[in-house]
Amino acid sequence: MTPAQIIRRKRDGEELTPADIRELFRGYTAGMVAEYQMSAFLMAVFFNGLSATELTELVNVMIGSGAVADLHSIPALKVDKHSSGGVGDKTSIIIAPLVAALGVPVPMMSGRGLGHTGGTLDKLEAIPGFRTDLTLQQYRAQIEKIGCSLIGQTQEVAPLDRRLYALRDVTATVESIPLIASSIMSKKLAEGIDALVLDVKTGNGAFLPDRERATHLARTMLDIGAGHGKKVVALITAMDRPLGFAVGNALEIEECVLTLHGEGPADLRELCLVLAAEMLVIGGAYDSLDEARMHAAAALDDGRAADKMREVIQAQGGNPSVLEDPAILPQAEVTCVIEADRDGYIGDMDVRAIGEAAVKLGAGRRTLGDEIDPSVGFHITIKPGDKVTKGQPMATIHARTPSNASKAAAALRAAMPVADEPGVCLPLIIERLTP
Ligand code: URA
Repeated sequence: MTPAQIIRRKRDGEELTPADIRELFRGYTAGMVAEYQMSAFLMAVFFNGLSATELTELVNVMIGSGAVADLHSIPALKVDKHSSGGVGDKTSIIIAPLVAALGVPVPMMSGRGLGHTGGTLDKLEAIPGFRTDLTLQQYRAQIEKIGCSLIGQTQEVAPLDRRLYALRDVTATVESIPLIASSIMSKKLAEGIDALVLDVKTGNGAFLPDRERATHLARTMLDIGAGHGKKVVALITAMDRPLGFAVGNALEIEECVLTLHGEGPADLRELCLVLAAEMLVIGGAYDSLDEARMHAAAALDDGRAADKMREVIQAQGGNPSVLEDPAILPQAEVTCVIEADRDGYIGDMDVRAIGEAAVKLGAGRRTLGDEIDPSVGFHITIKPGDKVTKGQPMATIHARTPSNASKAAAALRAAMPVADEPGVCLPLIIERLTP
């Protein structure tokens, strides 16, 4: 079949065979299917979805486009966690060393900021000297030696996803459940994991704000994982307010350091403990979630998680003294405090707008080539529903210039208004799903 015939069948809602899918992507990889044809195919998938058989084949093709890390020489079950992205979501940087400190190896390949959401790699690179560009060989050696590696998708892993993602980004085809699920899971399955915990966000700061769509995404990813023989579990969690207080790369690392020392905001610590417990149970370290959670809390409180993070930072070229002295992180030139302009309650927050305001300050990229400013961002100490009195501090803005700070202040005030009625937060953990 020609590419146009395959696209037409997908456009008209017919099911493609695995051979059709292989043929289309073989042609794309070989340069015989043009970018405009692949764009048309992606849009057809956006509108018509993919059947289970089509999705399975797409994931296989994406994994097969590159290398799969072989971690068989490491005897224990290797467990990763993936979050579908949000504002202030820094759990990976706490959970990976925490779980590794309790004996479960964590091979973690993360991404950069996307749209209004922050990215683990950008945050880690706020630590002076920290390198995320290890080769697959270095990645494996580090997991063997210290049980944890925090890196970016290497050139070798799922290169087809990298190409398709760039195309989706500019053809308005990102928000498609089968395309998101195949993109995330192809990378995760190529990492060499045995098990995966998925944290799928819902609420207005998530990519899929609608609860039903978030659940559908989680179920789709669970099915893909289970179909590849992996142990998988998913949590649907709240992204209707930023997680923790800090939004912005160096500020978030500082909050991770606090949390790794047994301090830090309550919601952040809670989500880390819940996700870490899932990873520890799925990785075979403990039989029950309660027992795993108790051990995870102890490892945060007695310094074992922080010690493991020190090893990771040292192994990846970073300055481990950040764990004792976060002041070595890049600091913004300008800070300004936002106070409540009247008595009342914090209403519902527009979390996407908070994320977008952070990107405008320089904490994220608006175009591919933008440089991140690791020092900028927000420290937001109120949550929807909190009672506030006039003059009470609600947030601190960290900016490069006074003009940037005042623009960000206006955006933050609009995104977290003081209202007559208290806003209502979703429960932090909304649902737990298994295949
Ligand atoms: N993250 C990914 O890796 N891919 C997507 O499509 C969306 C989020």
